[in-house]
Amino acid sequence: MIIQRVVLNSRPGKNGVPVAENFRLEQSTIADTVQEGQVRVKTLYLSVDPYMRCRMNEDTGSDYLQPWQLSEVADGGGIGVVEESKHHNLAKGDFVTSFTWPWQTAAILEGDLLQKLAPQLVNGRLSYFLGAAGITGLTALLGVREKGHVAAGANQTMVVSGAAGACGSLAGQIGRLEGCSRVVGIAGTDEKCSILVQEMGFDAAINYKKGDVAKQLRELCPGGVDVYFDNVGGDISDTVISQMNQNSHIILCGQISQYNKDVPYPPPLPPDTEKIQKERNITRERFLVLNYMDKQEASVLQLCQWIQEGKLKVRETVVEGLANIGAAFQSMMNGGNIGKQIVSVSK
Ligand code: NAP
Repeated sequence: MIIQRVVLNSRPGKNGVPVAENFRLEQSTIADTVQEGQVRVKTLYLSVDPYMRCRMNEDTGSDYLQPWQLSEVADGGGIGVVEESKHHNLAKGDFVTSFTWPWQTAAILEGDLLQKLAPQLVNGRLSYFLGAAGITGLTALLGVREKGHVAAGANQTMVVSGAAGACGSLAGQIGRLEGCSRVVGIAGTDEKCSILVQEMGFDAAINYKKGDVAKQLRELCPGGVDVYFDNVGGDISDTVISQMNQNSHIILCGQISQYNKDVPYPPPLPPDTEKIQKERNITRERFLVLNYMDKQEASVLQLCQWIQEGKLKVRETVVEGLANIGAAFQSMMNGGNIGKQIVSVSK
């Protein structure tokens, strides 16, 4: 059977900025027959995520991430529909997902490695299982719960960087749901800031590309910062940390501003910032959502319940067509997305 697939065409280099041309669309084939235990799936949605930048390097810098190989198909979070099954628990028409879905229009996959999805949990919005009801939502929820030390009634102020992105937009809302009394976002455009406040219930948002972030932060967080959900690292984080309170907490979710640089993860703080962190006893522990998969099932149900109740507002930026996945990745790394960046493959 003839299919389309996307392979890694070139590496951007450890310090390079990734571009769409690092990926290449090509025609390929899959077997015409499905073996025992396998299913043939049609791809519906693929996820593009910042961590993929590390997979473009020969050495990803982490033991849990494998590098993509040149001229081989890329993979990541994906959702599809079963079209043919020789697996005891999967039938034609079932919707399934995997963290290692190949970037191709159809595939033959081992049924045991797929998770069956229940579309009614997300009001039929299947792609949410890659975002708000998937690994992104889990990252936001478990990051807040495991590292945020949020306590209802404690009058805490939370700041979120990368706030209009997939994790950030959820993390701020979850911070509020879990008990923070004030939530302030930092994002890269006025439109993003306005969505955070008007749609997602943030108290305020700062466009870090305009004006003085430190000054705005001081005005918007008069009692200082108690919880910082950090998606970006770099200068923005140094500024936030300088305004954090004694015994406060950083949720070290990601450091996207450093991903095109050849630095270790997590990148060490500059000496002045590290001094503040130590003197004020600010926690900054490594957080990896994959270490909390025992909490996956209950947490996904919590996220789905909030989505159904309208308590968690979800935004997606959907790009149509497998051919455009490289461009979608490039755009996300440059701030082109609001909420979760998804590629729809069905059309
Ligand atoms: P995302 O925020 O949806 O997309 C990335 C956004 O980051 C862009 O839209 C852009 O928005 C912002 N950005 C890009 N370069 C920046 C820079 N130099 N400085 C400041 N902001 C920049 O991505 P996501 O999926 O939600 O991931 C957010 C972070 O969480 C990433 O660092 C990712 O690696 C991490 N993550 C961690 C885990 C974990 O287990 N710890 C799991 C999933 C994701 P602006 O317009 O605001 O610049």
